[in-house]
Amino acid sequence: MYEGRSYSAGRSMYLYQIRQKKTKKRRRITAAVIASFLLGSVFFSAPNTPPIQVHASDEQLSADPSNEAPDSADQLVSNLTNEPASQDSDSKTAVLPDTSSDEAGTKNPVIFIDPGHGGTDEGCAFSGVQEKTVNLAIAQLLQKRLCELGCTVILSRSDDSYIAKEDRVILANDADADLYVSIHQNSSEDASVNGLEVWYDGADTSRNNRRLAALINRQTLLCTGAKKREMHSDADFHVTGSTRMPACLIETGFLSNAAERRKLTDYGYQAQIADGIAAGISMYLNPKTMYLTFDDGPSAENTVRVLDILKRRNIKATFFLIGENVQKHPEIARRIAAEGHTIGIHCNVHDYKMLYRSVDSYIQDFETAHRIVYETTGIDTKLFRFPGGSINAYNENVKDAIIQEMNARGYVYFDWNASLEDALGDSTPEQLIANGVDTTLGRKNVILLAHDVVYNTGICLDELLDELAEYEMLPLNEHVAPICF
Ligand SMILES: [Zn+2]
Ligand SMILES: [Zn+2]
Repeated sequence: MYEGRSYSAGRSMYLYQIRQKKTKKRRRITAAVIASFLLGSVFFSAPNTPPIQVHASDEQLSADPSNEAPDSADQLVSNLTNEPASQDSDSKTAVLPDTSSDEAGTKNPVIFIDPGHGGTDEGCAFSGVQEKTVNLAIAQLLQKRLCELGCTVILSRSDDSYIAKEDRVILANDADADLYVSIHQNSSEDASVNGLEVWYDGADTSRNNRRLAALINRQTLLCTGAKKREMHSDADFHVTGSTRMPACLIETGFLSNAAERRKLTDYGYQAQIADGIAAGISMYLNPKTMYLTFDDGPSAENTVRVLDILKRRNIKATFFLIGENVQKHPEIARRIAAEGHTIGIHCNVHDYKMLYRSVDSYIQDFETAHRIVYETTGIDTKLFRFPGGSINAYNENVKDAIIQEMNARGYVYFDWNASLEDALGDSTPEQLIANGVDTTLGRKNVILLAHDVVYNTGICLDELLDELAEYEMLPLNEHVAPICF
């Protein structure tokens, strides 16, 4: 079951617990803090560290709390009463961890892991299996994994304590954690329902919640073989909505499903889940680089669809424009510039035979397009892309001379090393996504060719970006090392 959707919704449960207990007792929050230097390196000082290897199980890990990672370097003990957190938060003295640094003074990434529920709040329960227990077992395995990778890990609870969700958020925010991952189990009235869900706050694009959610979702599915379910962008949970760092909530399976419940209580399967979440976090912290490039625009509806998606996800891309199309849709060209994307020149008229007839015909077409883009957007771009790429069936005899002339004029061209192969316009969205993923070949540095004028490219873009979430998307500039055929 999900946690309460709001403080007010959770309050009646809270008061019920108070009545049941009748007497107040002191509550303890324990934040286990571990800084590990076992590997001699940390995420931020080794940006190209490959994603961790994933094992089906790991005998070094143990769900037995007595065998967990070296614990409680700093224990956070707070004297909470049963009063709602928001009423007594001022009275708490949160002793937050001294997050460790490596020799170069780089702060280790601080990961806040939140095993849902605890204490009197057991979450959902079926056949004697309580959600709070499964959540904690997975969280402790994840803690061990992340510590091995050089992260500083804070647990919202390391035992069967009740911690109000408001306090979990306060702890994470006060610790200035880099990422927040809440672990829960799901339930349904339909006992056949199973699979993995990840929730995030899609309304707050400043935190990159979606990229974190997508990576954790994908990697955990890969490690567990669990059924893929939809990612949910409309999470309205306090822990994902009020945290200040990228955050997501993973429901690792359905306790209401007998087969999945058996797996979720199995140590090996719990370790697979922890491996998957850790791999997602590792990829988030160690992004590869991708430059999304869109050719042949602007067009009316299709470019707008692409721009809307990029804006919603706070991604900057590169558009190689056609002069004629800029004249048709000047307001869209201006929007591309205004929203911080890079503009390059593609051509004025997309006619291979005319363009590559001679150096002069190429330069004349280019100068026309450059002037139109400058007069429309105010951008005096130095970037360009050859129609058909720098090596194509039409330019063999003039290619070298054109490149020499363009370089002399101070322009730099970019080919690509991955492609949606959407130029023909007859591929389904699913095929385009497969093309995009397959042609990147896991490279660390990718320039991806796409066409914003193609309808299906805009249709598949959101899902494609989820599939490519291990990449940080950046706009080209004249200092980026170009990829040339
Ligand atoms: Zn839950
Ligand atoms: Zn083109």
